Amino acid sequence: MAPLDAPQHVALNQFPVLEDVLLLGGIRLTRLAERVGRTPFYAYERSHIATRVVTLRQTLPEGVHLHYAVKANPMPALVQMMAGLVDGFDVASGGEMKVALDAGMPADCISLAGPGKRDEELRCAVAAGVLLHLESEGEMERAARIGGELGMVPRVAVRVNPDFELKLAGMKMGGGPRQFGVDAARVPAMLRQLVLLGLDFHGFHLFCGAQNLSAAAICEAQRLSVQLALRLAEHAPAPMRMLNIGGGFGVPYFPGERALDLPAVADGVAQCLNLLRQASPKTTLILELGRYLVAEGGIYVCRVLERKRSHGQTFLITDGGLHQHLAASGNFGQVIRKNYPVVIGNRVHGGPRETVSVVGPLCTPLDLLADRMELARAEAGDLVVVLQSGAYGLTASPTAFLGHPAPLEVLV
Ligand SMILES: *Cc1c(COP(=O)(O)O)cnc(C)c1O
Repeated sequence: MAPLDAPQHVALNQFPVLEDVLLLGGIRLTRLAERVGRTPFYAYERSHIATRVVTLRQTLPEGVHLHYAVKANPMPALVQMMAGLVDGFDVASGGEMKVALDAGMPADCISLAGPGKRDEELRCAVAAGVLLHLESEGEMERAARIGGELGMVPRVAVRVNPDFELKLAGMKMGGGPRQFGVDAARVPAMLRQLVLLGLDFHGFHLFCGAQNLSAAAICEAQRLSVQLALRLAEHAPAPMRMLNIGGGFGVPYFPGERALDLPAVADGVAQCLNLLRQASPKTTLILELGRYLVAEGGIYVCRVLERKRSHGQTFLITDGGLHQHLAASGNFGQVIRKNYPVVIGNRVHGGPRETVSVVGPLCTPLDLLADRMELARAEAGDLVVVLQSGAYGLTASPTAFLGHPAPLEVLV
């Protein structure tokens, strides 16, 4: 299989190119950089993200609810746009909960997950009417106490640590010893306690892993999730109103990776829905996705400061790097470092090409955006674009490291 080179990655991203300059939201990148006023910056394209969500919803069976996992990209303007496109938000902190509520999403369509919730976060969620995804017995007891103090009944679901693993996931988050959720075997006892504490039970949450590009593996995990939830629901104090089976849909980043087979995933979801409707017709099935919705609609843009030669290799030294885009540097959970798709945004196809390493301004060899990659020959002032950067970019990066100014973010 031919490796995907830079121009093909552009095609993969569906950003058009006009006279060798990348277009975002119909604006030339060079013009956008002028408007933003300085580099580096992140830019997210509204139409790309909206099309992604609409296409997904058209492909999925009717009746499935789609939630956006805010942690993938919590930029307030983007979250606000998402509020009009999805059925709910999943948040992972009090801060994200505030962004979600500010975006106008009704509290009863927001759920709060995370293995370590502070009392203050629990109090805010209960007071606002946000659904708590309980991750331990201890958290259940704290939620009940806080509900008592507020004179309110907390709405809760139980996050289950499944007794199976998601195959081929980029990052596993279920099966075996985990800090997430409650071991499936302990859930029946927890549910008995939940009744005694007077909590308002809504259902279950399972999340097996992320960045999965295998439709078969996703479908199997979803089927096992529904089966496990139906078994656990027999111990529940009230009918299961919702079942959130996660998602973990991946996007291709590296040469040789192929986009997820969405129709195959949708078939699997339809089977899950049938299984659920036969056994528990009133349960709402929820998918929660982050990366799949936003990753491909965003880019990171930095500027070449210097060209440097060292021992026969050419380095492009830029004003952007690891401190602003940890994932592209290969230090956000990757086992083997691979280059993210990178292009010179104002010389996408044309001109001579050369093999270069793109590095940032930090005093560490880890600050690498592209390792010996073939790119259009670039000069100081040219724009280096890291594609597939709409998810786990800025907020997943150590921006305080070395004290450079934080990059800007725009939604175009
Ligand atoms: C991180 C996370 C998500 C989003 O994962 P993506 O890979 O971005 O889709 C969804 N649910 C939970 C519980 C998470 O922790």
